[in-house]
Amino acid sequence: MLMLLRLGHNQCVLTREMRLSFCSPGALAEFLDPQQQVVVGVGGTARLHCRFSSSGPVASCWIHDREKVVLEGLRVCVTNTSSSSTLVLSDVLPVDVGSYSLFVCNRGGTAHWTISLRVIDRPDPPASCPFVSQLTPTSLVLSWSGPCFDGGSAITGYVVEFQRLDQSEPSDWTELANQCLNTSYRVCSGLDPQGRYHFRVRAYNAAGVSDPSEESDCIKMNTTGEPQWEVTSYVEVVPDTTHKARDHYHVHEKLGVGKFGEVYRMSHKQTGWVCAGKFYRDRVSREKTAARQEIKLMKGLHHPKLVQCLAAYDTQSEIVMILEYIAGGELFERIVDENFEHTEPNSVNYMRQILEGIQYIHSKRIVHLDLKPENIVCVNSAGTLIKIIDFGLASKLEPGKHLMVLHGTPEFVAPEVVNYEPVDLATDMWSIGVICYILLSGESPFQGNSDAETLALVTAAQWEFNPESFDGITNEAKDFISGLLREDKRTRLSCEKALAHPWIALFDDSNSRSTKSLNKDKMRRFLARRKWKKTGKALLALKRMVRCSKSDALHSPSISVDANALGKEAEQAVASLEKQLWSEPRFHRALHDLTESCGATVHLACTIQGYPDPEVVWLFDEAPLEKTRRVQMHYDKNGTCTLTLAQVQPGDSGIYKCCASNSLGQARCSARLTVQL
Ligand code: ATP
Ligand code: MG
Repeated sequence: MLMLLRLGHNQCVLTREMRLSFCSPGALAEFLDPQQQVVVGVGGTARLHCRFSSSGPVASCWIHDREKVVLEGLRVCVTNTSSSSTLVLSDVLPVDVGSYSLFVCNRGGTAHWTISLRVIDRPDPPASCPFVSQLTPTSLVLSWSGPCFDGGSAITGYVVEFQRLDQSEPSDWTELANQCLNTSYRVCSGLDPQGRYHFRVRAYNAAGVSDPSEESDCIKMNTTGEPQWEVTSYVEVVPDTTHKARDHYHVHEKLGVGKFGEVYRMSHKQTGWVCAGKFYRDRVSREKTAARQEIKLMKGLHHPKLVQCLAAYDTQSEIVMILEYIAGGELFERIVDENFEHTEPNSVNYMRQILEGIQYIHSKRIVHLDLKPENIVCVNSAGTLIKIIDFGLASKLEPGKHLMVLHGTPEFVAPEVVNYEPVDLATDMWSIGVICYILLSGESPFQGNSDAETLALVTAAQWEFNPESFDGITNEAKDFISGLLREDKRTRLSCEKALAHPWIALFDDSNSRSTKSLNKDKMRRFLARRKWKKTGKALLALKRMVRCSKSDALHSPSISVDANALGKEAEQAVASLEKQLWSEPRFHRALHDLTESCGATVHLACTIQGYPDPEVVWLFDEAPLEKTRRVQMHYDKNGTCTLTLAQVQPGDSGIYKCCASNSLGQARCSARLTVQL
């Protein structure tokens, strides 16, 4: 500072401000063709690279997920140059996933760019073992749930494997199918009618194939010889409180799992009759009460469209309901099968059967309250007869009493359930409307991106017929659905009215053949999503999705990371970047001695670096120089200071000094000018 303090009023100090006024202002670093996303497998090496253009000194840092400053370490290497920064992460772990923002500070301020890092791994194994339905001597349908975590990359398919068990030693596991796109698969070849098999599935994504799921129970193919429990007459069921179900039945493979417990295929030890056993979860009294309520209700329901209760066991150790075995599997699974014809007249047939079953329970003032596709099953794998199962949430309406419930499945519940208003028979009619809508279009009318969104759409009773999905569907069908999906339950069609609706009578034999096949792809997607949801564990993958979408927003150049969006540690690191630019003045290029002829124009030039920008003063023989017509000074944005002397005279000979100073220090350099006559 020494010289500057002694300057007179017309002596010249070149400052940053002045410099900025005659040079272009300091510009932010500009990122050049940067990466947006890097995808790497677990254990691999991720190289995140950013090139930028910037003048003057730069300081930079990487921030992970807007929170954590990325520091050099065993797995982390950061290489910086004046125009790039490279972050190399080796032995990448799943936790490394997320956004990586490079903050670059220069004279003009701080700029950033965000690259999202996707770490992909093999998926977890499918969350459930495969369950069997539609069993015939040579074919069956397997269905399972997707993995809890997809490894960070969408599941692209499944591998189905089987192992034969009825030989002296179990065979090796063999692949049955390796490009299965859905969570169900129809096995129609390669199975021996005499065989007994185990099945398991693996999921795969871009990173590889998962470990296998749990194995299915042992499946015996030839069950056709086994007599099915024929429900010919309805018997009064009295729960057995002294025996266990296993005293009277063999328990075979698992048919399904649900909220209330597990369902197994069973056979009666004495008669060999095949049936299904619903083993309730009964650890707490609430579960016991619910199980007993379902049994009590089921005992009184005798109708060909409703699954029949055949016996019940209620002891200290277990509560089991024995049901007629329904071999055909879920209706919707059947429909998407390639060999199955899906048309509007067929759909009428299913809806009629559902209505008949529900009309029966409604006549007893019972509401089902859980009508959804999973609870509509096919009687066998050949025909088109269906039955309604799962009366776990059903309730009897008592005269003069309001019934309010807090259960159901978001996509299928009526607005009054969501609003916790009294439910009644019309509540089931709404769900029947939703089922019919999906049956015809493959789309779920109230499906939102989250349960909360779905429920909001239900309460608003907001739905419409997507023209593309309902292309070719009759107006009668649409009118039928519109009569059911009415917010005001008093105006919804009752079962009687629905059965009398023109749509139900529309297709007689003469015109049903001309009706076109309905597209099954949407329904396949609907089923895959329902299965995925049923696992209830899709949380991890969901979290990842949320994270990715957040980082997508972050790396979009139009959205800036404002300081508030950064965590404390990150904020401090970014704020301290400017300090890293600080340096005392230094001459990168010093002045040189010059000898010039009289009358020449002389340029004395040097280059200074330092931050904050140094102030510059020129001295001649220790006295500050003034700017005149003959003496000009220039200081450009690259730090080059030039003193120009026009028409030099011998009197200009002497020592010229350039003094640069900022708050951190000062520097000077000098040169001798000799002017020859
Ligand atoms: P949810 O979670 O669907 O409410 P839940 O605990 O009430 O389940 P159910 O729906 O009664 O249980 O049964 C679960 C699964 O078991 C069904 O989706 C079906 O695949 C199978 N299942 C149930 N009853 C039978 C039966 N009688 N015959 C064949 N399979 C059956
Ligand atoms: Mg069910």
